[in-house]
Amino acid sequence: MTELLELYNTMGISPAVYQYGEKALLTLKERFDTIDQIAEHNQAKVIAAMQKNRVSAACFAATTGYGYDDVGRDNLEKVYADVFHTEAALVRPQITCGTHALTVALSANLLPGDELLSPVGLPYDTLQEVIGIRPSACSLAEYGVTYRQVDLLADGTFDYEGIRAAINEKTKLVTIQRSKGYATRPTFSVKQIGQLIAFCKSIKPDVLVMVDNCYGEFVETIEPSDVGADMTVGSLIKNPGGGLAPIGGYICGTEACVSRCAYRLSAPGLGQEVGANLGLMTSLYQGLFLAPTVVAGAEKGAIFAANLYEPLGFKCVPNATESRHDIIQAVELGSEEGMIAFCKGIQAAAPVDSFATPMPWDMPGYNDKVIMAAGAFVQGSSIELSADGPIRPPYAVYFQGGLTWCHAKLGILMSLQKMVDAGLIKL
Ligand SMILES: *Cc1c(COP(=O)(O)O)cnc(C)c1O
Repeated sequence: MTELLELYNTMGISPAVYQYGEKALLTLKERFDTIDQIAEHNQAKVIAAMQKNRVSAACFAATTGYGYDDVGRDNLEKVYADVFHTEAALVRPQITCGTHALTVALSANLLPGDELLSPVGLPYDTLQEVIGIRPSACSLAEYGVTYRQVDLLADGTFDYEGIRAAINEKTKLVTIQRSKGYATRPTFSVKQIGQLIAFCKSIKPDVLVMVDNCYGEFVETIEPSDVGADMTVGSLIKNPGGGLAPIGGYICGTEACVSRCAYRLSAPGLGQEVGANLGLMTSLYQGLFLAPTVVAGAEKGAIFAANLYEPLGFKCVPNATESRHDIIQAVELGSEEGMIAFCKGIQAAAPVDSFATPMPWDMPGYNDKVIMAAGAFVQGSSIELSADGPIRPPYAVYFQGGLTWCHAKLGILMSLQKMVDAGLIKL
Protein backbone atom coordinates (compact mmCIF):
# COMPACT_ATOMS: atom_id res chain seq x y z
CA MET A 1 0.00 0.00 0.00
CA THR A 2 1.12 3.55 -0.66
CA GLU A 3 1.53 5.85 2.30
CA LEU A 4 -1.61 7.77 1.39
CA LEU A 5 -3.62 4.58 1.10
CA GLU A 6 -2.35 3.50 4.51
CA LEU A 7 -3.26 6.85 6.02
CA TYR A 8 -6.73 6.72 4.49
CA ASN A 9 -7.05 3.15 5.75
CA THR A 10 -6.38 4.24 9.32
CA MET A 11 -9.12 6.84 8.86
CA GLY A 12 -11.55 4.10 7.82
CA ILE A 13 -11.41 4.13 4.03
CA SER A 14 -10.83 0.72 2.52
CA PRO A 15 -8.51 0.15 -0.46
CA ALA A 16 -11.55 -0.93 -2.54
CA VAL A 17 -13.33 2.39 -1.98
CA TYR A 18 -10.17 4.38 -2.62
CA GLN A 19 -9.45 2.53 -5.85
CA TYR A 20 -13.05 2.92 -7.04
CA GLY A 21 -12.59 6.66 -6.54
CA GLU A 22 -9.27 6.74 -8.37
CA LYS A 23 -10.81 4.96 -11.34
CA ALA A 24 -13.57 7.56 -11.58
CA LEU A 25 -11.02 10.37 -11.30
CA LEU A 26 -9.13 9.15 -14.36
CA THR A 27 -12.10 10.20 -16.52
CA LEU A 28 -12.39 13.68 -14.99
CA LYS A 29 -9.06 15.26 -15.85
CA GLU A 30 -10.33 17.43 -18.70
CA ARG A 31 -13.30 18.71 -16.75
CA PHE A 32 -11.11 19.56 -13.80
CA ASP A 33 -8.74 21.43 -16.14
CA THR A 34 -11.66 23.53 -17.38
CA ILE A 35 -12.66 24.32 -13.79
CA ASP A 36 -9.08 25.37 -13.03
CA GLN A 37 -9.12 27.71 -16.03
CA ILE A 38 -12.33 29.35 -14.79
CA ALA A 39 -10.79 29.68 -11.32
CA GLU A 40 -7.69 31.29 -12.84
CA HIS A 41 -9.84 33.81 -14.68
CA ASN A 42 -11.89 34.63 -11.58
CA GLN A 43 -8.79 34.80 -9.40
CA ALA A 44 -7.30 37.40 -11.76
CA LYS A 45 -10.60 39.31 -11.76
CA VAL A 46 -10.60 39.49 -7.94
CA ILE A 47 -6.93 40.47 -7.69
CA ALA A 48 -7.36 43.15 -10.37
CA ALA A 49 -10.29 44.63 -8.44
CA MET A 50 -8.25 44.65 -5.23
CA GLN A 51 -5.29 46.29 -6.97
CA LYS A 52 -7.44 48.90 -8.70
CA ASN A 53 -8.92 49.91 -5.35
CA ARG A 54 -5.51 49.95 -3.66
CA VAL A 55 -6.37 47.47 -0.89
CA SER A 56 -3.89 48.01 1.94
CA ALA A 57 -3.42 47.17 5.61
CA ALA A 58 -5.47 50.27 6.48
CA CYS A 59 -8.51 48.46 5.04
CA PHE A 60 -8.28 45.77 7.71
CA ALA A 61 -8.57 48.09 10.73
CA ALA A 62 -11.55 47.48 13.00
CA THR A 63 -14.17 50.15 13.48
CA THR A 64 -16.92 50.34 16.08
CA GLY A 65 -19.91 52.54 16.83
CA TYR A 66 -21.46 54.34 13.86
CA GLY A 67 -18.66 53.42 11.52
CA TYR A 68 -18.49 56.78 9.74
CA ASP A 69 -15.67 56.98 7.19
CA ASP A 70 -14.98 53.26 7.45
CA VAL A 71 -12.30 52.97 4.77
CA GLY A 72 -12.16 49.16 4.84
CA ARG A 73 -15.92 48.75 4.43
CA ASP A 74 -16.28 51.41 1.75
CA ASN A 75 -13.35 50.00 -0.20
CA LEU A 76 -14.62 46.41 0.05
CA GLU A 77 -17.85 47.58 -1.54
CA LYS A 78 -15.86 49.15 -4.39
CA VAL A 79 -13.97 45.86 -4.84
CA TYR A 80 -17.22 43.89 -5.03
CA ALA A 81 -18.66 46.41 -7.50
CA ASP A 82 -15.61 45.95 -9.71
CA VAL A 83 -15.65 42.14 -9.48
CA PHE A 84 -19.34 42.10 -10.46
CA HIS A 85 -18.93 44.98 -12.96
CA THR A 86 -21.62 47.08 -11.30
CA GLU A 87 -21.93 50.76 -10.42
CA ALA A 88 -22.32 50.06 -6.72
CA ALA A 89 -22.36 47.37 -4.04
CA LEU A 90 -23.60 46.93 -0.49
CA VAL A 91 -21.47 44.34 1.35
CA ARG A 92 -21.24 44.25 5.12
CA PRO A 93 -21.69 42.17 8.26
CA GLN A 94 -24.96 43.98 9.04
CA ILE A 95 -26.48 41.89 6.25
CA THR A 96 -26.96 38.73 8.30
CA CYS A 97 -27.50 36.08 5.60
CA GLY A 98 -28.63 35.49 2.03
CA THR A 99 -32.32 35.72 2.86
CA HIS A 100 -31.69 39.06 4.54
CA ALA A 101 -29.80 40.42 1.53
CA LEU A 102 -32.62 39.34 -0.80
CA THR A 103 -35.21 40.83 1.56
CA VAL A 104 -33.40 44.16 1.64
CA ALA A 105 -33.11 44.20 -2.17
CA LEU A 106 -36.80 43.42 -2.65
CA SER A 107 -38.29 45.63 0.04
CA ALA A 108 -36.09 48.59 -0.89
CA ASN A 109 -37.20 48.53 -4.50
CA LEU A 110 -40.87 47.56 -4.26
CA LEU A 111 -43.50 50.01 -3.01
CA PRO A 112 -47.18 49.50 -2.16
CA GLY A 113 -49.12 48.81 -5.35
CA ASP A 114 -46.10 47.35 -7.15
CA GLU A 115 -46.03 43.77 -8.35
CA LEU A 116 -43.20 41.25 -8.08
CA LEU A 117 -42.86 38.55 -10.74
CA SER A 118 -40.99 35.26 -10.51
CA PRO A 119 -40.75 33.83 -14.05
CA VAL A 120 -38.88 30.73 -12.83
CA GLY A 121 -41.43 29.11 -10.53
CA LEU A 122 -41.58 29.03 -6.76
CA PRO A 123 -38.68 30.83 -5.05
CA TYR A 124 -36.43 29.33 -2.35
CA ASP A 125 -38.24 28.30 0.85
CA THR A 126 -37.25 31.26 3.02
CA LEU A 127 -38.26 33.76 0.32
CA GLN A 128 -41.82 32.47 0.39
CA GLU A 129 -42.49 34.14 3.73
CA VAL A 130 -40.60 37.26 2.68
CA ILE A 131 -42.91 37.64 -0.32
CA GLY A 132 -45.99 36.46 1.57
CA ILE A 133 -46.66 33.33 -0.50
CA ARG A 134 -46.82 31.77 2.95
CA PRO A 135 -48.32 34.39 5.25
CA SER A 136 -45.87 36.06 7.61
CA ALA A 137 -45.67 39.24 9.64
CA CYS A 138 -43.89 42.01 7.70
CA SER A 139 -44.08 40.18 4.37
CA LEU A 140 -44.16 42.20 1.16
CA ALA A 141 -47.82 41.17 0.83
CA GLU A 142 -48.60 42.93 4.13
CA TYR A 143 -47.15 46.12 2.68
CA GLY A 144 -49.36 45.88 -0.39
CA VAL A 145 -46.88 44.39 -2.85
CA THR A 146 -48.58 41.76 -4.99
CA TYR A 147 -46.86 38.69 -6.41
CA ARG A 148 -47.21 36.75 -9.61
CA GLN A 149 -45.44 33.58 -10.66
CA VAL A 150 -44.91 31.80 -13.96
CA ASP A 151 -43.80 28.21 -13.62
CA LEU A 152 -41.16 26.64 -15.81
CA LEU A 153 -42.32 24.40 -18.64
CA ALA A 154 -42.23 20.65 -18.08
CA ASP A 155 -38.76 20.43 -19.68
CA GLY A 156 -37.36 23.06 -17.28
CA THR A 157 -37.25 25.91 -19.84
CA PHE A 158 -38.82 29.38 -19.56
CA ASP A 159 -42.50 29.80 -20.44
CA TYR A 160 -41.98 32.90 -22.57
CA GLU A 161 -45.65 33.22 -23.55
CA GLY A 162 -46.72 32.91 -19.92
CA ILE A 163 -44.15 35.52 -18.90
CA ARG A 164 -45.30 37.90 -21.62
CA ALA A 165 -48.87 37.56 -20.36
CA ALA A 166 -47.87 38.02 -16.70
CA ILE A 167 -45.96 41.30 -17.14
CA ASN A 168 -48.39 44.18 -16.65
CA GLU A 169 -48.42 47.88 -15.74
CA LYS A 170 -47.87 47.03 -12.06
CA THR A 171 -44.87 44.76 -12.63
CA LYS A 172 -41.96 46.58 -11.00
CA LEU A 173 -39.40 43.88 -10.31
CA VAL A 174 -38.59 40.46 -11.73
CA THR A 175 -36.81 37.99 -9.43
CA ILE A 176 -34.77 35.18 -10.96
CA GLN A 177 -33.25 32.42 -8.83
CA ARG A 178 -30.12 31.02 -10.47
CA SER A 179 -29.67 27.85 -8.42
CA LYS A 180 -32.25 25.13 -8.10
CA GLY A 181 -32.14 25.32 -4.29
CA TYR A 182 -34.03 22.31 -2.98
CA ALA A 183 -36.20 21.99 -6.08
CA THR A 184 -35.68 19.50 -8.87
CA ARG A 185 -35.43 21.95 -11.74
CA PRO A 186 -32.11 22.62 -13.46
CA THR A 187 -29.86 25.47 -12.36
CA PHE A 188 -29.69 28.19 -15.00
CA SER A 189 -26.52 29.24 -16.75
CA VAL A 190 -25.68 32.94 -16.69
CA LYS A 191 -26.29 32.99 -20.44
CA GLN A 192 -29.82 31.63 -19.97
CA ILE A 193 -30.45 34.22 -17.28
CA GLY A 194 -29.26 36.91 -19.70
CA GLN A 195 -31.74 35.74 -22.32
CA LEU A 196 -34.58 35.83 -19.78
CA ILE A 197 -33.59 39.33 -18.60
CA ALA A 198 -33.46 40.58 -22.21
CA PHE A 199 -36.90 39.12 -22.86
CA CYS A 200 -38.46 40.74 -19.77
CA LYS A 201 -36.88 44.11 -20.60
CA SER A 202 -38.02 43.89 -24.22
CA ILE A 203 -41.59 43.73 -22.94
CA LYS A 204 -41.14 46.36 -20.22
CA PRO A 205 -37.87 48.30 -20.55
CA ASP A 206 -38.00 49.92 -17.10
CA VAL A 207 -38.69 46.71 -15.16
CA LEU A 208 -36.00 45.93 -12.57
CA VAL A 209 -34.41 42.49 -12.44
CA MET A 210 -32.90 40.93 -9.32
CA VAL A 211 -30.99 37.66 -9.48
CA ASP A 212 -30.67 35.40 -6.42
CA ASN A 213 -27.08 34.35 -7.10
CA CYS A 214 -26.70 32.00 -4.08
CA TYR A 215 -24.25 29.13 -4.75
CA GLY A 216 -23.55 30.42 -8.27
CA GLU A 217 -20.72 32.92 -7.71
CA PHE A 218 -17.48 32.12 -9.56
CA VAL A 219 -18.76 28.90 -11.12
CA GLU A 220 -18.60 30.71 -14.46
CA THR A 221 -16.42 33.62 -15.60
CA ILE A 222 -19.45 35.91 -15.90
CA GLU A 223 -22.11 36.76 -13.32
CA PRO A 224 -25.76 37.78 -13.74
CA SER A 225 -24.64 41.42 -13.38
CA ASP A 226 -22.73 40.97 -16.66
CA VAL A 227 -25.93 40.10 -18.52
CA GLY A 228 -28.27 42.86 -17.46
CA ALA A 229 -29.35 42.17 -13.86
CA ASP A 230 -30.03 45.39 -11.92
CA MET A 231 -29.21 43.62 -8.65
CA THR A 232 -27.16 40.46 -8.05
CA VAL A 233 -27.54 39.16 -4.51
CA GLY A 234 -26.02 36.46 -2.33
CA SER A 235 -24.63 35.26 1.00
CA LEU A 236 -21.07 35.53 2.29
CA ILE A 237 -21.28 32.21 4.11
CA LYS A 238 -21.64 30.63 0.70
CA ASN A 239 -19.34 31.07 -2.33
CA PRO A 240 -18.03 34.66 -2.20
CA GLY A 241 -17.05 34.51 1.47
CA GLY A 242 -14.50 31.83 0.56
CA GLY A 243 -15.13 30.05 3.87
CA LEU A 244 -13.50 32.84 5.86
CA ALA A 245 -16.34 35.35 6.11
CA PRO A 246 -18.12 34.62 9.42
CA ILE A 247 -21.30 36.52 8.39
CA GLY A 248 -22.57 38.82 5.68
CA GLY A 249 -24.35 39.27 2.40
CA TYR A 250 -23.91 41.34 -0.74
CA ILE A 251 -26.02 43.29 -3.20
CA CYS A 252 -24.20 44.41 -6.36
CA GLY A 253 -26.07 46.55 -8.85
CA THR A 254 -26.99 49.92 -10.20
CA GLU A 255 -26.36 53.02 -8.09
CA ALA A 256 -30.11 53.69 -8.00
CA CYS A 257 -31.04 50.23 -6.69
CA VAL A 258 -28.12 49.81 -4.29
CA SER A 259 -28.55 53.21 -2.64
CA ARG A 260 -32.18 52.37 -1.93
CA CYS A 261 -30.99 49.05 -0.45
CA ALA A 262 -28.63 50.95 1.84
CA TYR A 263 -31.44 53.24 3.03
CA ARG A 264 -33.61 50.20 3.69
CA LEU A 265 -30.83 48.34 5.53
CA SER A 266 -29.91 51.23 7.86
CA ALA A 267 -32.27 54.19 7.69
CA PRO A 268 -33.48 56.78 5.19
CA GLY A 269 -30.89 59.54 5.19
CA LEU A 270 -28.16 57.35 6.68
CA GLY A 271 -27.74 54.72 3.99
CA GLN A 272 -24.27 53.37 3.38
CA GLU A 273 -22.56 55.88 5.70
CA VAL A 274 -23.19 53.91 8.91
CA GLY A 275 -22.30 50.32 9.81
CA ALA A 276 -19.08 49.59 11.68
CA ASN A 277 -17.01 46.68 10.37
CA LEU A 278 -16.39 45.19 13.87
CA GLY A 279 -12.98 43.88 12.86
CA LEU A 280 -14.25 41.52 10.18
CA MET A 281 -12.59 43.14 7.18
CA THR A 282 -9.61 40.80 6.88
CA SER A 283 -11.95 37.79 6.70
CA LEU A 284 -14.18 39.44 4.13
CA TYR A 285 -11.32 40.55 1.87
CA GLN A 286 -9.30 37.37 2.25
CA GLY A 287 -12.40 35.22 1.82
CA LEU A 288 -13.20 36.96 -1.47
CA PHE A 289 -9.58 36.47 -2.52
CA LEU A 290 -9.83 32.71 -1.86
CA ALA A 291 -13.36 32.30 -3.22
CA PRO A 292 -12.51 31.43 -6.86
CA THR A 293 -10.33 28.47 -5.87
CA VAL A 294 -12.63 27.39 -3.04
CA VAL A 295 -15.56 27.32 -5.46
CA ALA A 296 -13.44 25.34 -7.95
CA GLY A 297 -12.67 22.73 -5.27
CA ALA A 298 -16.32 22.46 -4.28
CA GLU A 299 -17.36 22.03 -7.89
CA LYS A 300 -14.79 19.27 -8.41
CA GLY A 301 -16.22 17.54 -5.35
CA ALA A 302 -19.74 17.74 -6.76
CA ILE A 303 -18.63 16.27 -10.08
CA PHE A 304 -16.59 13.56 -8.34
CA ALA A 305 -19.63 12.54 -6.28
CA ALA A 306 -21.89 12.30 -9.32
CA ASN A 307 -19.28 10.17 -11.05
CA LEU A 308 -19.02 7.84 -8.05
CA TYR A 309 -22.70 7.42 -7.31
CA GLU A 310 -24.30 7.46 -10.75
CA PRO A 311 -22.55 4.29 -12.01
CA LEU A 312 -23.80 2.56 -8.85
CA GLY A 313 -27.39 3.21 -9.92
CA PHE A 314 -28.20 6.34 -7.89
CA LYS A 315 -29.80 9.21 -9.77
CA CYS A 316 -27.68 12.36 -9.58
CA VAL A 317 -28.83 15.93 -10.30
CA PRO A 318 -26.92 17.31 -12.15
CA ASN A 319 -25.87 14.02 -13.71
CA ALA A 320 -22.28 12.81 -14.05
CA THR A 321 -21.57 14.55 -17.34
CA GLU A 322 -23.73 17.67 -17.73
CA SER A 323 -22.40 21.21 -17.39
CA ARG A 324 -22.66 22.98 -14.03
CA HIS A 325 -23.86 26.41 -12.96
CA ASP A 326 -23.76 26.06 -9.17
CA ILE A 327 -22.00 23.91 -6.56
CA ILE A 328 -24.96 21.84 -5.36
CA GLN A 329 -25.15 18.10 -5.99
CA ALA A 330 -28.25 16.04 -5.31
CA VAL A 331 -27.92 12.26 -4.98
CA GLU A 332 -31.06 10.15 -4.72
CA LEU A 333 -30.15 7.39 -2.30
CA GLY A 334 -33.52 5.65 -2.29
CA SER A 335 -33.80 4.99 1.44
CA GLU A 336 -33.54 6.58 4.86
CA GLU A 337 -30.65 4.24 5.70
CA GLY A 338 -28.83 5.47 2.62
CA MET A 339 -29.25 9.11 3.64
CA ILE A 340 -28.04 8.38 7.17
CA ALA A 341 -25.00 6.47 5.93
CA PHE A 342 -24.09 9.19 3.42
CA CYS A 343 -24.38 11.98 5.99
CA LYS A 344 -22.40 9.96 8.56
CA GLY A 345 -19.56 9.78 6.04
CA ILE A 346 -19.57 13.53 5.36
CA GLN A 347 -19.57 14.19 9.11
CA ALA A 348 -16.84 11.65 9.84
CA ALA A 349 -14.55 13.35 7.30
CA ALA A 350 -14.97 16.83 8.79
CA PRO A 351 -12.18 18.74 10.54
CA VAL A 352 -14.68 19.95 13.19
CA ASP A 353 -17.24 17.80 15.07
CA SER A 354 -16.13 14.64 13.25
CA PHE A 355 -17.14 12.62 16.35
CA ALA A 356 -20.81 13.67 16.04
CA THR A 357 -23.35 11.33 14.44
CA PRO A 358 -25.98 13.04 12.28
CA MET A 359 -29.50 11.70 12.86
CA PRO A 360 -32.89 12.64 11.34
CA TRP A 361 -34.77 15.14 13.49
CA ASP A 362 -37.99 17.17 13.47
CA MET A 363 -36.78 20.56 12.35
CA PRO A 364 -39.17 23.49 12.85
CA GLY A 365 -40.92 24.51 9.65
CA TYR A 366 -40.54 21.18 7.86
CA ASN A 367 -43.17 18.48 7.45
CA ASP A 368 -40.65 15.66 7.25
CA LYS A 369 -37.69 14.80 9.40
CA VAL A 370 -34.46 16.34 8.14
CA ILE A 371 -30.91 15.02 8.37
CA MET A 372 -27.88 17.30 8.25
CA ALA A 373 -24.15 16.72 8.24
CA ALA A 374 -21.87 19.66 8.86
CA GLY A 375 -18.53 19.95 10.55
CA ALA A 376 -17.81 23.57 9.83
CA PHE A 377 -15.54 26.29 11.22
CA VAL A 378 -18.31 28.83 10.55
CA GLN A 379 -21.65 27.66 11.95
CA GLY A 380 -24.10 26.85 9.18
CA SER A 381 -21.62 27.69 6.45
CA SER A 382 -22.52 25.77 3.32
CA ILE A 383 -19.40 26.62 1.34
CA GLU A 384 -17.82 24.19 3.82
CA LEU A 385 -18.53 20.52 3.08
CA SER A 386 -22.08 19.83 4.17
CA ALA A 387 -25.02 17.59 3.30
CA ASP A 388 -28.67 17.59 4.17
CA GLY A 389 -32.08 16.52 2.99
CA PRO A 390 -35.66 15.77 4.04
CA ILE A 391 -36.40 12.14 4.91
CA ARG A 392 -38.95 11.44 2.18
CA PRO A 393 -38.92 9.85 -1.28
CA PRO A 394 -36.80 9.92 -3.36
CA TYR A 395 -34.50 10.16 -0.30
CA ALA A 396 -32.17 12.66 -1.90
CA VAL A 397 -29.26 14.26 -0.11
CA TYR A 398 -28.18 17.68 -1.28
CA PHE A 399 -24.58 18.30 -0.68
CA GLN A 400 -22.25 21.14 -1.41
CA GLY A 401 -19.04 22.84 -0.51
CA GLY A 402 -15.65 21.78 0.64
CA LEU A 403 -13.03 24.45 1.27
CA THR A 404 -10.46 22.31 -0.50
CA TRP A 405 -10.82 19.70 -3.22
CA CYS A 406 -8.84 17.22 -1.10
CA HIS A 407 -11.32 17.54 1.74
CA ALA A 408 -14.31 17.25 -0.59
CA LYS A 409 -12.75 14.08 -2.03
CA LEU A 410 -12.18 12.61 1.42
CA GLY A 411 -15.76 13.39 2.46
CA ILE A 412 -17.24 11.74 -0.60
CA LEU A 413 -15.01 8.67 -0.27
CA MET A 414 -16.04 8.44 3.38
CA SER A 415 -19.73 8.65 2.45
CA LEU A 416 -19.25 5.80 0.01
CA GLN A 417 -17.42 3.80 2.65
CA LYS A 418 -20.33 4.21 5.11
CA MET A 419 -22.73 3.05 2.38
CA VAL A 420 -20.55 0.00 1.79
CA ASP A 421 -20.25 -0.67 5.55
CA ALA A 422 -24.05 -0.49 5.89
CA GLY A 423 -24.40 -3.11 3.15
CA LEU A 424 -26.17 -0.66 0.82
CA ILE A 425 -23.55 -0.78 -1.92
CA LYS A 426 -21.35 -3.52 -3.34
CA LEU A 427 -18.30 -2.35 -5.23
C1 LIG B 1 -29.13 29.55 0.65
C2 LIG B 1 -30.05 30.20 -0.30
C3 LIG B 1 -30.80 31.32 0.06
C4 LIG B 1 -30.83 31.89 1.46
O1 LIG B 1 -29.61 32.12 2.03
P1 LIG B 1 -29.43 32.04 3.61
O2 LIG B 1 -28.07 32.59 3.79
O3 LIG B 1 -29.57 30.62 4.02
O4 LIG B 1 -30.48 32.90 4.23
C5 LIG B 1 -31.60 31.89 -0.91
N1 LIG B 1 -31.68 31.38 -2.14
C6 LIG B 1 -30.99 30.30 -2.52
C7 LIG B 1 -31.11 29.78 -3.91
C8 LIG B 1 -30.15 29.68 -1.61
O5 LIG B 1 -29.45 28.59 -1.98
